[in-house]
Amino acid sequence: MGKMIQLLPEHVANQIAAGEVIQRPSSAVKELLENAVDANATKINLVIKDAGKSLIQVIDNGNGMNAEDAKLCFLRHATSKIKSTNDLFSINTKGFRGEALASIAAVAQVELKTKQIKEELGTQINIEGSEITSEEPVSCSSGTNILMKNLFFNVPARRNFLKSNAIETKHIIDEFERIALAHPSIHFTMHNNDHLSFDLPEATYRQRIINIFGKKYNERLVPLEEKTTITEITGFIIKPEFSKKTRGEQFFFVNDRFIKNTYLNHAVKNAFKELISKDQFPSYFIYLTIPKDTLDINIHPTKTEVKFQDDRSIYAIILSTVKNSLGKYSISPSLDFEQESSFQIPPLKKGEAIKPPTINVNPNYNPFQKTSSTDKQEAISNSLDMIKEPSFSVDQGLNEFDKSSTGATQLEQNWTGLTNTGSNEKIFQFKKKYVVTSLSSGIILIDQERAHHQVVFEKFLSQLQDKKIETQQLAFPVQIELSNSDYELSLELLSEIKEIGIDIDDFGNNTLVINGLPIGFDLNECKGLVEDILENYKHSSDQLICTNENLAWSLSRRGSIKSGRILNSTEMNKLINDLFCCDSPYFNFKGKPIIIKLENDEINSRFDKK
Ligand code: ADP
Ligand code: MG
Repeated sequence: MGKMIQLLPEHVANQIAAGEVIQRPSSAVKELLENAVDANATKINLVIKDAGKSLIQVIDNGNGMNAEDAKLCFLRHATSKIKSTNDLFSINTKGFRGEALASIAAVAQVELKTKQIKEELGTQINIEGSEITSEEPVSCSSGTNILMKNLFFNVPARRNFLKSNAIETKHIIDEFERIALAHPSIHFTMHNNDHLSFDLPEATYRQRIINIFGKKYNERLVPLEEKTTITEITGFIIKPEFSKKTRGEQFFFVNDRFIKNTYLNHAVKNAFKELISKDQFPSYFIYLTIPKDTLDINIHPTKTEVKFQDDRSIYAIILSTVKNSLGKYSISPSLDFEQESSFQIPPLKKGEAIKPPTINVNPNYNPFQKTSSTDKQEAISNSLDMIKEPSFSVDQGLNEFDKSSTGATQLEQNWTGLTNTGSNEKIFQFKKKYVVTSLSSGIILIDQERAHHQVVFEKFLSQLQDKKIETQQLAFPVQIELSNSDYELSLELLSEIKEIGIDIDDFGNNTLVINGLPIGFDLNECKGLVEDILENYKHSSDQLICTNENLAWSLSRRGSIKSGRILNSTEMNKLINDLFCCDSPYFNFKGKPIIIKLENDEINSRFDKK
């Protein structure tokens, strides 16, 4: 094979979605892995050290490059994958921009060894800050071995901007998993700080998912299968009973490329609607195959967003396919499938012209902007109202509470009558979920679970801030086996987990061992606690990871009173007192309301009284 790489003519280069390709170690990992996939490798090994900050290396057994291409590949807009603008609409490869290696070579020290199979000798190029420092023939195996050291060595501001190793490693694992899930026929391995963290031999899609997320996924997966002229769908949804309270595993692949798409995610959510509660998220691995000319992947620099020519039909097809699968596996016998099975997508008429997708789209466009206003946003605006309202401060709350237990307005006496407790306390429990009491200014309903959670949360938070959490040693250490990715993440977090009073160590072989727990914690909660912490980390945004608040949240989630528990009046009194001693009695850390207050005025106005 001769020279393959060409510089893109300027007019083509100018049509490529511009933007920074390398923002953090994981972006380099993504680009290098994609290059190895594009080179038809059947085996790809990723090696990282120090969360990719000091080393990222990708070794593949793919096509390799000849001596000339080995030099050309570091030039901007140098690519073997497209030649003309038209090619942008028939892309078969992961890459096409010809920018990744140029960007990487600009901000790291790079060593490339590459050899095509028919060649005797390969080529080694060293390049640093875009300057080639050496270039020589080398004896090496066929394929490409590219190694980059000290990312952002010459851009200290960028380097300092990188997050902790735990966060950067999590991003790298995310990228690794996405590419490995898209290409189960490739054998992937990953070494993190000299230990083998993933070994994913060639497999089916199902096996690949299980190899990554653990054996327990086998019984959770429900297959999807649908074929229409617009798209072909395969993949799996996770049974609704295993849905998570945090955004769990949500994967869309289009023509073997992982993509993010809130619109299509909504279709799956819609299909699950009746089957999971509002605060749960469906998990899925959905693979779409779509004719290349009905798809534009050139709308975003990192190529994780694509534009479909007919996204409404794809939405409808996903909705119906997921519903059908949920039904077929008798997960939702009550669903009506008549409508879905009669669902038809009109095939394209022969010779009918397809309008090419336009390039100028706004990648930030969110069709659900209006409906997606989250509880949190609402809560925040409510909370602002609350702040404006001078009638109820923490201290006042306590006073009013006291007053109400001695006061004797007509309304309050009536309340007592309703409680059926026979006592004089104007407190009662409603639906084993809410504590109801009256104040001189109205009635309040307290969510008992959130209230107690908040009390425990604030207690842990202040202990964490004062570094005062006490650990109790366990008589028998508990072992916890984790999936590959959870284990990798936990290793990065061990020291932080220790700081919250969990005496935990690495036991090797995807296993952690817990020797001690914070005082007051139930031994049986051990495993759940660690899983909670990891789950919380995996799915929170960068800013929230590793904060005392996050740790306190995980700790408190497990040791608090739940809905459904009957509370006696002493417990209710204590809960209310404790709650009003909190810094934030009205809203929890996630912005959800804890207390709802009905003002006298509102009650009167609803009865049409002044
Ligand atoms: P792109 O992937 O968009 O073409 P890159 O900068 O990532 O741009 O790579 C430039 C070119 O270098 C590719 O088009 C390809 O020809 C060559 N190349 C990069 N990585 C490899 C690899 N691992 N094996 C073979 N060729 C590679
Ligand atoms: Mg590339």
